Amino acid sequence: MTHSLFITQLADIFAAHQIKTNDAARPYHTDERNRYHLAPLAVVLPHSTAQISRLITLCAAQNPPVAVIAQGGNTGLVGGCAVLPDCPSILLNLSQLNRVIEIDPLNQTATVDAGVTLQALHDALKPYQLIFPLTLASQNAATIGGNLATNAGGTQVLRYGSMRDLCLGLEVVLADGSVWDGLNTLRKNNTGYDLKHVFIGAEGTLGVITRAVLKLFPAPLHRTCALVACNDLKSILDTFRTIKSQFDQQLTAFEYISANAFDLVCTQFDITPPLEPAPEYALIELASSLPLNNDAFEAALDALSHANVLQNAAIAHNEQQSTQFWRIRELISAAQKKLGKNIKHDISLPISSINAFCSATYAALQQAYPMIEPTVFGHIGDGNLHFNVSRGGAFADADGLMACEPQINATVYRFVAQFHGSISAEHGIGLLKRDLLPTVKSDVELRLMRDIKQQFDPQNIMNPHKILP
Ligand SMILES: Cc1cc2nc3c(=O)[nH]c(=O)nc-3n(C[C@H](O)[C@H](O)[C@H](O)COP(=O)(O)OP(=O)(O)OC[C@H]3O[C@@H](n4cnc5c(N)ncnc54)[C@H](O)[C@@H]3O)c2cc1C
Repeated sequence: MTHSLFITQLADIFAAHQIKTNDAARPYHTDERNRYHLAPLAVVLPHSTAQISRLITLCAAQNPPVAVIAQGGNTGLVGGCAVLPDCPSILLNLSQLNRVIEIDPLNQTATVDAGVTLQALHDALKPYQLIFPLTLASQNAATIGGNLATNAGGTQVLRYGSMRDLCLGLEVVLADGSVWDGLNTLRKNNTGYDLKHVFIGAEGTLGVITRAVLKLFPAPLHRTCALVACNDLKSILDTFRTIKSQFDQQLTAFEYISANAFDLVCTQFDITPPLEPAPEYALIELASSLPLNNDAFEAALDALSHANVLQNAAIAHNEQQSTQFWRIRELISAAQKKLGKNIKHDISLPISSINAFCSATYAALQQAYPMIEPTVFGHIGDGNLHFNVSRGGAFADADGLMACEPQINATVYRFVAQFHGSISAEHGIGLLKRDLLPTVKSDVELRLMRDIKQQFDPQNIMNPHKILP
């Protein structure tokens, strides 16, 4: 069967405006980091689970079968939606499957289509004084389906957990076109294997998530935020330990910003720095539905200053100031993008090893590439660093930097292994880190993963050749 006949058959399932090819398809098959560009046979934008089921049935019936690559907001950073050569594929963009179906204030759950953006869900919850706590700088475009498929983390994991912790149920279209209705709304339901966890974090390789039931929480009515500066990373970690032990559940975010990252944002976005220059910064947020003890927070920061742990601190006195502080943190990726291509490492480490890891890795990178400029930031309260490398004085242009990517990656990942960390904290494996997987998983673990893939997708049509080599 030719692909032109297959495209014609798509018209039996989708209206003309739901099928994009050629130039109209291009924005969908260019990834966020501008690394992958190959075109699929077509991009389709379904309106219903039934259309997705018919599409997958059609793809599975081709000889050879056509691959199905699910896509949400296309904000993923590891090439999870990349089309591969010699692998005829349909890019299944779920952005039109975007209804908030039910908000249950008493059960504190929301049932939503997979294509609802994270921001749209946040907005829909405002009248209910409830929140869905996942918060990402990409939330205007990133979708709930993409968040689930990547087990997204973000800035509030410290208090609320990652996507896996925030999901109660799923609806999934499987590789044979059948639909699994697992839209569980119960918090307690021990009835055998919890299948939703197979699909969460599977990056579309086992099925297409079409709907989800998510946990909601009371909106914090009280919030305070501080930007602090330290002389070294150890002091940032000491500050984290002190604030966490004193404020525990009220601590909703503790974000680390290195001076390189801080300065880059201020320069690229013309922001007047709110603090005197320092080698390291952190953004701390406390939030609660009960009144916060602001005096205790101020006293804790004062005590840290007197002990010379903090060099400087600014507490936001109003919502506007708090937004200004958060803006610096949220614009780091955009500032790096403005500077050109950069090398990203989304890694996690035991919090107690972060300081030693950074010292060892900086030293090794600096020896190989004098004047290299790591632009490091991240959710340090979860042990998650975005250990990125932008072009600095060592490289005249971004291409020069990218030519050294394999060696820089090897150095960073060598120290990640030495300090018992993970090569992917929250972005996933996708295509970018696929070939590293066998270096970090045991043979037994890889075999179990392959068995799961074979069981759920025997024809290898669901986002093939991602995650597993
Ligand atoms: C500026 C910026 C900041 C970011 N910050 C964070 C952060 O703090 N934390 C974090 O975790 N990530 C972050 N990311 C990464 C990204 O936004 C997340 O991975 C997000 O969850 C991806 O959602 P998406 O809808 O864009 O998915 P896409 O990019 O469209 O897809 C990602 C993967 O999920 C699969 N997929 C998508 N939808 C479905 C579905 N319905 N069913 C099955 N599989 C599906 C795709 O096949 C692909 O493998 C950031 C990205 C940017 C650009």
